[in-house]
Amino acid sequence: MAYKINDACISCGACEPECPVNAISAGDDKYVIDADTCIDCGACAGVCPVDAPQPE
Ligand code: SF4
Ligand code: SF4
Repeated sequence: MAYKINDACISCGACEPECPVNAISAGDDKYVIDADTCIDCGACAGVCPVDAPQPE
């Protein structure tokens, strides 16, 4: 299991510093989560203003 950022992402960057394992980085048109690094904690979803990170 890992979280995935959907197309609702507005690239605000709020989630990136909240991730305890640094799984989030800026992508071309939205932020992205490295599924192999994500520990499914949900911290990113908690700070996202548009609910873009969703559990897969
Ligand atoms: S669910 Fe947790 S570990 Fe996974 S990307 Fe979000 S903040 Fe990082
Ligand atoms: S907090 Fe939400 S909108 Fe902001 S960069 Fe992260 S996923 Fe995208």
